[in-house]
Amino acid sequence: MHGSTGSEPRIKVHTLTDYLLAFYAGRDPAHRSAETWNWFDDSAMKLGIATYVIHRGNEAIVYDTFASIEQARWMRRYLEAMGIEKFTVVYSHWHLDHIAGDAVFGDCDVVATRLTADAIAPRKAAIEDGTLWGPPAIQSIRVPNIIFDDRHTLTIGDITLQLRLRNIHSADGCVILIPKDEILLAGDTLEDPLTYMIEVENLPQHIADLREMRAWDIERIYPNHGDPDVIAGGGYGKSLIDATIDYVAAMLAKSHDQDYLAGSMEDYVGHLAARGWVHPFEPYRDVHAQNLKLVHEHWRDKLLPVI
Ligand SMILES: [Zn+2]
Repeated sequence: MHGSTGSEPRIKVHTLTDYLLAFYAGRDPAHRSAETWNWFDDSAMKLGIATYVIHRGNEAIVYDTFASIEQARWMRRYLEAMGIEKFTVVYSHWHLDHIAGDAVFGDCDVVATRLTADAIAPRKAAIEDGTLWGPPAIQSIRVPNIIFDDRHTLTIGDITLQLRLRNIHSADGCVILIPKDEILLAGDTLEDPLTYMIEVENLPQHIADLREMRAWDIERIYPNHGDPDVIAGGGYGKSLIDATIDYVAAMLAKSHDQDYLAGSMEDYVGHLAARGWVHPFEPYRDVHAQNLKLVHEHWRDKLLPVI
């Protein structure tokens, strides 16, 4: 399989504002692209994924190219049918579920943080032959051609987008702030019901960057992995940032506890769900268990940071 998932994409399109669309796929366990384990079905689609498009006139900025060639092609055709002819890609971070549709936008500029470009370049061959995360392989991934270190501004018609580096979830994170409507496109810096931890050595920095982000003028938040009903219904408030800080801080604070690995998803997000800040979703139980394991391995014998 070369970036092909062999099935017709099942994508829902939500109109969030007159210039902002969400394309949502996944959380649909009845449909798989392959019978055996693969990251497309068993990670990306299981958790559900949104890709966001900012459009004005015949131009669009595509914030991530989806988790497969088919999904990206479906999205591009949909946008072309709206009269859009010029596309610019912005990457939220280098992970495969966000860049897999790159080839569909092979004629477009790709904007990303320098760290995203630096992460893709040495992994390009392993991504393309399906050995980095296992199958499916992804054909012709490019290294982004417009790179920035900390901040970058894009304009499309009357809309200004502020791209900002965030070390949350992954060190190369790029979120998009749309000051006009105080909208934050959060990439994978925020997930509902809990953040997917990988670079656990950076958790104290994640909390610092989350706190800084919370001080920005933000009215509505749209994460890439979230509850489709909340996304379609107007997005999240800053309480999703509060929930993420609470979760990460508790995961760190308890990491020296004897029975740490037995901590359930409910133990950590139950009180946040009761406030309506997050919406527990069964497949995140495995993500939480994996988070516990990674945090335990890294932090059990280290002095815990003051956070
Ligand atoms: Zn992701």
